Amino acid sequence: MDVHRSLVFPIRWDAPSLDWVLSEFRLLVNESIRVALREDLRSRARLARAAYQVLSCGHAVYKQYIPSAFEVALAVLKAHRRRLKRTKRSSVPYMRKLMLKAENQSYRLDRETGRLRIPVRGTEGVQLQLPLSEWHRSFLSDPAWGLGSLTVVPGKIILVVRREAPKAYEPEGAIALDTNEDSLDGVVASDEGMVPAMLPLGGVRQIQQTHFRRRRRLAAKKAGDRRVMRRLLNREGRRERSRVRQRLHLVSKGLVQFAKNGQAAIILEDLTLHGARGRSHRMNRRLSSWPRREIHRQIEYKTALAGVPVIKVNPQWTSKTCPVCGARRRDRVGQVFVCLHCDWEMDRQINAGMNILKTALASNEALARAVRFQPGALRHDVVSPLYDLVRGGPSARDEPSGVERC
Ligand SMILES: [Zn+2]
Repeated sequence: MDVHRSLVFPIRWDAPSLDWVLSEFRLLVNESIRVALREDLRSRARLARAAYQVLSCGHAVYKQYIPSAFEVALAVLKAHRRRLKRTKRSSVPYMRKLMLKAENQSYRLDRETGRLRIPVRGTEGVQLQLPLSEWHRSFLSDPAWGLGSLTVVPGKIILVVRREAPKAYEPEGAIALDTNEDSLDGVVASDEGMVPAMLPLGGVRQIQQTHFRRRRRLAAKKAGDRRVMRRLLNREGRRERSRVRQRLHLVSKGLVQFAKNGQAAIILEDLTLHGARGRSHRMNRRLSSWPRREIHRQIEYKTALAGVPVIKVNPQWTSKTCPVCGARRRDRVGQVFVCLHCDWEMDRQINAGMNILKTALASNEALARAVRFQPGALRHDVVSPLYDLVRGGPSARDEPSGVERC
């Protein structure tokens, strides 16, 4: 399996020929979209057969940009079809943003100096200097990371790097966590039994609340000018996300290291499944559920790089099931889960984590052999080992905001 990262470089240029390539590329994409729509083409090969000749004659750009444009066009169309299916409504897709996507055989990058050459047409090209931070260098100086595609948009360049992920180890234990608004909660399990665990998300909920109030105030103050309001709100949103992301990096890094030290698997809910949707919808009404998805995303790519196995389970009923006797409560569960059939009682979030573990054990034999699932022996007074992860963990400077999702 491959792991991808996107390295973002803020950059300004004074190169009219590069601006020209960006606008040509947008034309290529939009013309490709029209052809693909008209002839109902969904594969790159068929789109190439239908459109390459015409586009190649009509546009003087570097030829390898044409297949890249096909790929972007097909991605835009795929999103369009998905929207149509879901909401039955989507206007005919059209790319407004200026952009250029170059595959790694098109551009040349000196990984040591950051000198970048982007072809324009024929043998003509533009030279740019990427501003390399220490963080960027840590990827570029490591030959294990290969270069992927390069995306140029006004104001920034995004470089995808990728490497092969190591094979995940055989787990000797498990960390099963339920994803909540301000913490991940559950159990750490090994062949010696289970301990309750709670991993705070570093005050993410408070950050969200602060920004939520700020946005509401801004919206009220700038209600007269929707354009200004939107710009300010977008800026607020970016700030909030980068602050939250920063906190979550600490948490996910600590968790993955902790799992690796104990050769444990990490078990999480699959938030993309139907069962999770109703729940995240409820969360949505209060605060955005983006941090929950973001922490999962971070855990997933960090575990992939570290060779830590991850198991995703269906989150349905996890907060309403008794892990001891299996009985379900159909009514609302309070802060403490109380089973009506046996006398089991447990904090509802820890309880959900136990059910997540139980579900994973049922479908994973290796894990079931490695872990003893004994809810009765759970000691409530044992301090969770995960509490210390953040406090004693790596420093906040490790992951700057120049890293973005691909
Ligand atoms: Zn029970």
